[in-house]
Amino acid sequence: MIDIGVNLTSGRFHKDLSEVMGRAREAGVHAQIVTGTSVHASEEALALAQSYPNELYATAGVHPHDAKNWSEESAASLAALAREPGVVALGECGLDFNRNFSSSEDQLRCFEAQLILAVEVQKPVFLHQRDAHEAFMPLLKHYRPQLVGAVVHCFTGTREELEDYLALDCAVGVTGWVCDQRRGAELRELVKHIPADRLMVETDAPYLTPHNLPKKPKGNRNEPAFLPYVIETVAECRGEAPDALARQTAQNARVFFQLT
Ligand SMILES: [Zn+2]
Repeated sequence: MIDIGVNLTSGRFHKDLSEVMGRAREAGVHAQIVTGTSVHASEEALALAQSYPNELYATAGVHPHDAKNWSEESAASLAALAREPGVVALGECGLDFNRNFSSSEDQLRCFEAQLILAVEVQKPVFLHQRDAHEAFMPLLKHYRPQLVGAVVHCFTGTREELEDYLALDCAVGVTGWVCDQRRGAELRELVKHIPADRLMVETDAPYLTPHNLPKKPKGNRNEPAFLPYVIETVAECRGEAPDALARQTAQNARVFFQLT
């Protein structure tokens, strides 16, 4: 299994990362993509990837929440990071008009700069979109033909949004959101409509702890070892066998991020 979205640089993993890694391995999660959410966090993600070769890989990007801090300096640092072999994608980047921690102007500027960089270095983008589909689509559409790949991570949108992404040949990342009977109801229906070769899975650890765990983990912290619970739910919704889905999504991730 491959977890395409883990926030292992989070302070919540500082104390026991090696145990977390051990449990992931035991659970059959053999590779993970560590999400970069700021220049600093992306540097940390790359350092982690370098200390766990062939097991951890990094993305480099600036989350829309952090777009207000985007500067020429961050652009230069990110451009250097993006060229590192341990960095397998640009992002997470995109737009989040749900909480608006940065202004929409700053978010648009920061997102477009990262799309341009992804085109330049020919690496895929790891996308975040929340309550911003209208503004997100024209930008993505404009750059999509030159991008080598695009995955909409933690997809929780509508049928129309899903169709828009699929029309642009995007891959879709599904998290434990799908395991939530109430909040995930729409997603449980929609995962059936994601073509098998475009589907990837992620925990988004330490966030979005799956609701189908046999018992709540300490502090309700999510970790990559819980990926099988996401896979189990997605497989159930699609009427597929979990092990077949695990293999397919891992294969998709290998190809998409060009993992060696
Ligand atoms: Zn995100």
